This record gives sequence, C-alpha cells and structure tokens, in this order.
Amino acid sequence: MSPLSRRSFLKSAAAAAAVGAVPVLGTGCSSRPVCPPPPGGRLSMRFYPHDNELAHTFTISGFSRDVTHAVLVEISYEGVTGYGEAALPPYMTGQTVETASDFLRKVDLSRFNDPFMTDDILDYVDGIAPGMSCAKCGVDIALHDLIGRLCGLPLWRMWGYNPDKTPCTSYTIGMDTREKIIEKTLEAEPYRILKVKLGSTEENDKMIISTIREVTDKPIVIDANQGWKDKYYALDMIGWLQERGIQMIEQPMPKDVYDDMAWITERSPLPTYGDESCQRLEDVSRLKGVFSGINIKLIKCTGLREANKMITTARSLGMNVMIGCTTETSCACSAAAQLSPKVDFADIDGNLLLSNDCFDGMKVVDGKITLNDKPGIGVTKI
Ligand code: MG
Repeated sequence: MSPLSRRSFLKSAAAAAAVGAVPVLGTGCSSRPVCPPPPGGRLSMRFYPHDNELAHTFTISGFSRDVTHAVLVEISYEGVTGYGEAALPPYMTGQTVETASDFLRKVDLSRFNDPFMTDDILDYVDGIAPGMSCAKCGVDIALHDLIGRLCGLPLWRMWGYNPDKTPCTSYTIGMDTREKIIEKTLEAEPYRILKVKLGSTEENDKMIISTIREVTDKPIVIDANQGWKDKYYALDMIGWLQERGIQMIEQPMPKDVYDDMAWITERSPLPTYGDESCQRLEDVSRLKGVFSGINIKLIKCTGLREANKMITTARSLGMNVMIGCTTETSCACSAAAQLSPKVDFADIDGNLLLSNDCFDGMKVVDGKITLNDKPGIGVTKI
C-alpha cells in the first residue's frame, strides 16, 4: 500500500469506527449509525390511489393522456415506513387502479416477521397471481425503501453502485404541433439529451425532428413506440435519423416482430433498444440479436429485485441497457435512479413531466441524475 493510500485507508477506517461502533435504528438520516431491528416484528401494508397529473398533454404513437393513474404503497415495520408506487399507464400493461387494488388486497405481509427476507416476500407476492407487474412493483419499491431506511443506507450504497457513474437523463418530447414542439424543446433547455417520440406518418415524424433541429443540436434518442410497420421503411427512417445526429432508436417495430427486428438491428447504423418487447427477466435472453439493448422499466419487470437481475443478464449477453420510466412521481423515479450507475442510457424524467409530484427525491443537476444520501430510495413524502 502506498503512503498516500495507507493514509486514506487509516482515515477512512477511523471515520468508520467513529460512526459504526454503536448502531442505532435509523429513521431518515444515513449519516447516523444504525442497526436494523431484529426479526419478530410485524410487517404491515397500506395503499391508496393517486392521480399523476401531467403539465402537458402527453402524446405518443397511438395514445394521448393528461393524467396517469397510480396506486401508492406504504410498508411499515417497527415504526419505519417505506414508500412505493404502482403507476398504471393505460397503453403499457392494461392494469388499472381497480385491478391493481384487487391484487394488493390479496397481499398479506403479516405472514412475514422479517422485512430483510426480501426474496421470500417478493417470491410470495409474485406468486399470488400472474401479470400485475405494476402492483407488484409498488410492493417491491416500498419493501426496498423500507429495508434501506431500517439500515439507514441508500440502496445504491447497499448494492455497491458508484453514484458518480450516473448518466444524464433524457427529457421526453411527445408528439405535437410544430409550435408546441418548439415550446417543449426550449423548455428542455436544462437537459443535455432529448428523447423524442415518433412513430406516426413519415411527414409528421420528419417535421418533428426537423423542427427540433432548427432549435438545438443536442443529442437525440428516438422512441417510435412500435409505430413503424415495415422493416424497409424503418431502416430508411433510421438512416435519415442518423444523418441528423440521433443516438439510438427504441422499439421501431411492433413488439412481437422478432425476425424483422433482428433484420433491422443487423443493418442499423444506430443501436436499437427493445422496450415493449422486453417486459421481464425471461425476455432478455430471447432478445439477444433482436435488439442491441433493452429498456428496463420497474413497472414492467415487477421492481428493483428483477431489474437488477435483468441488468446482470443483459451484460452477460453483451447487450446494452437503458432504464426508463413512465409518467410517475419522484417515488418510482428515485427508485429507478438507484440503478442508473449501471446503465448506458437513462430516461428518468417522468416526475419532471408532472404538475403534482407528491415526493421529493433524486434530482437532475445539469442534466445528470444526482443521487442523494438519504436511506432507501431517497425520498421524502410531501
Ligand atoms: Mg419506450
């Protein structure tokens, strides 16, 4: 060990000894020494609907909306509460407040007396019924937030992820009129990457990109949301987009068109990412060769536990990884942000598109996702 690194080590060890010797139950500040309470207590859960209201009408290929319904989940143990969110975008999973609530009523956490048995608890939740990934995600996030709070540590620290490695997040611009596109592009000034929704007619798609390029030369990523139906047309469009400084293309074709998508990926000058094609862990290996990478979203894959496994699996297959979100509060966005040091692209801006965010959490500073030191997912309920 060099003198300098030895000095650093001793300094760190002394600091660790000073804070780590006498554990105290943490309730919100990660700088306090903590000791998780022992098993034997009682886990409880409550949930309630919440409407995520959008600052602008949000339009993508095939859908338009002003609100995203959600169910917020709280799991408590020994006086400490973790928060979770099940956002329910209508086009993505088919789940509603009613079906998610019906599922959550079946979740009986009183059968567990140790919140750190996350594998057992989440296996049980996943086995209650097939599907219902959004509702399961709400439980997963709340449970992870709870164990982080009980330890007094942020999840990124518990997992060993480096907060300096977080990427910039893209800022999403939905389909709109030329005037609105200009307005939204100017609004996106603080962000370094734009995510642009395409997938309508050739004329409209090209109008959107040309309009944005009149305003800015920032990097752009594209999400066509399955909007293009012909592989030759899709490849031509990707070539046109590459000439305009686009970085990558997400889900250009319908989700089940694997052969055509593999044909495009083989020839595409831009990396391709599967979103609607990639729901859960079991999908990752079958998408090798179909897309260059996958877009993980917590509400698709049931939450943080499975998202971590998907990242590891995709990396082992040599695939790229991005993490996305839907229009959800800083609760779910801060949960997704815990994983962001491990991905190539991040699209965690759902909270920024809301007018009634009811959590304070991770921030975007100079375009970059910035994780805080608060325990769990790092949020405060407003
Ligand atoms: Mg997408």
